[in-house]
Amino acid sequence: MTQATIAKPAETTTIKSLKCKECGMEYDAKAMHICEDNCFGPLEVSYDYDAIRRQVTRETIQAGPNSIWRYRPFLPVTTDNVIDVGTGMTPLVKSHRLARRLGLKNLYIKNDAVNMPTLSFKDRVVSVALSRARELGFSTVSCASTGNLANSTAAIAAHAGLDCCVFIPADLEAGKVLGTLIYNPTVMAVQGNYDQVNRLCCEVGNTYGWGFVNINLRPYYSEGSKTLGFEVAEQLGWQLPDHIVAPLASGSLYGKIYKGFQEFIKVGLVEDKAVRFSGAQAEGCSPIATAFKEGRDFVTPVKPNTIAKSIAIGNPADGIYALEIAKKTGGNIESVTDAEIVEGMKLLAETEGIFTETAGGTTIAVLKKLVEAGKIDPDETTVAYITGNGLKTQEAVQGYIGEPLTIEAKLDSFERALERSRTLERLEWQQVLV
Ligand SMILES: *Cc1c(COP(=O)(O)O)cnc(C)c1O
Ligand SMILES: [Zn+2]
Repeated sequence: MTQATIAKPAETTTIKSLKCKECGMEYDAKAMHICEDNCFGPLEVSYDYDAIRRQVTRETIQAGPNSIWRYRPFLPVTTDNVIDVGTGMTPLVKSHRLARRLGLKNLYIKNDAVNMPTLSFKDRVVSVALSRARELGFSTVSCASTGNLANSTAAIAAHAGLDCCVFIPADLEAGKVLGTLIYNPTVMAVQGNYDQVNRLCCEVGNTYGWGFVNINLRPYYSEGSKTLGFEVAEQLGWQLPDHIVAPLASGSLYGKIYKGFQEFIKVGLVEDKAVRFSGAQAEGCSPIATAFKEGRDFVTPVKPNTIAKSIAIGNPADGIYALEIAKKTGGNIESVTDAEIVEGMKLLAETEGIFTETAGGTTIAVLKKLVEAGKIDPDETTVAYITGNGLKTQEAVQGYIGEPLTIEAKLDSFERALERSRTLERLEWQQVLV
């Protein structure tokens, strides 16, 4: 008599451990994020790079899914049973008109404003965090969010059939709130800023046993951002750029783009190359930019006050690591005013046809500022990371853009309106010229 053997899911994990970034102590890959037994430093996933090298070539990646999961051996999951909602592989657009306007020759826009399913880079980190949450046996997932993370957690939890409860500051943009509620999670709008929301969530996490994507699952969550580095390298034809500009909230995504590039070098997928890392903050919440300018290696927390709410973290968890990377790569961390952020949003829209949210406006405004200060070489291959979609932060540009010309449904009404608008345009030009 033959007996059927039950096939277990392939355990093809490349995870080695969770490793403390400060003291190096190693832990099992569980739901935890700080070095509880020693120094209370943050934990990071470490991998068996020999195993990755054996599994991965440019060809195996290209033959993989058209999503972040083409890089699965570099991501912290243990089975192939991942949540793939088409996240990642967003366009890397060669910029012509914005590049000319700024005086750059090799500018690219990594456009996560059209990421799936919720139009921000957060879909990357959440796809990874919830895939790992499911492996670890969580049935309820949660997060402390500045807006986009709540959208993404609620949507992907809905897709995966996980219970979901998210925490946001009560004063978020309408589009961000609605873009969470539609998935029908429990939404807690906390009367306080993000840093207060985060503190509350740490307490809730300790007692409720939920999977908080950016707290107890943070080591897994943050690894998702490496795909912003992997994709750019692949899309540039398996080459690294010379310079990147990315927004900084907690500083996590910025550091993980760096880790992504380093891993591709380590396993031989791209040639080693020095990439300069520049970062963007809003002046109304710029603790990392301020520390950089003052030459400090520590970050002093601030109370946020800016229209760039998605990056308004006053006490950034990975701020010191962002400072380190900017310094050692020869990059810069700059901040811009809310008015410059609105101008940045308009500039990207008018020149490239990309409508980004305030965080993207911050990145473009800082890009412009760095070029004007001679801190980006016109010949450098530069990638600006656009991380979110403008339809979610409409309040930011209301009153700063044109209005439709209301006309009757008659040809002569159209013609008069057209003539008026052309006269106006001429007048504006004359004002520019005098
Ligand atoms: C969260 C967020 C960021 C920054 O993320 P960190 O990894 O915390 O620095 C940037 N842009 C947008 C649109 C975001 O939602
Ligand atoms: Zn430690």
